[in-house]
Amino acid sequence: MSRSAGRLRVGHGYDAHRLQAGQGVTLGGVWIDCDYGLIAHSDGDVLIHALCDALLGAAGLGDIGRWFPDSDARFARIDSRVLLREVMLQVHAAGLAPLNADLTLIAQVPRVAPHVDLMRARLAEDLGVPPALVNVKATTTEGMGHIGRREGVAAHAVVLLDAAEDPI
Ligand code: MG
Repeated sequence: MSRSAGRLRVGHGYDAHRLQAGQGVTLGGVWIDCDYGLIAHSDGDVLIHALCDALLGAAGLGDIGRWFPDSDARFARIDSRVLLREVMLQVHAAGLAPLNADLTLIAQVPRVAPHVDLMRARLAEDLGVPPALVNVKATTTEGMGHIGRREGVAAHAVVLLDAAEDPI
């Protein structure tokens, strides 16, 4: 079957969370020991939250707040990979599957470069694609603004979905 533009769906997601003093953060599904913690109803994994919103956006399924409201105690301190896998169930139910994902973390701290390969592996596992098709980038703001002052971190994600070969 030849590819037509009608088969492809692009989505973008953005998220941000506050930082505080702490023992570590979870980003991209990976625990990072550091002197900071994330303030959030869930584990505060901004990379996964941005990825979930990109997936939901591409599938036309709203946003993460609609599926997992922070007023719901079931999602308190939850591992965000659980949310990502639930989003993937919805993506598959819509007859769609990821082709690739590109994520950008914006953070002055912590330093994530040593953890990027493990992030890619874990996110790829949840997305059902090879790690080479999940890119994770990180940048600082060179000290500018609230992220530069280490008050929080943010993330952007872009995903491309394709209509599954055999829609459910
Ligand atoms: Mg969030």
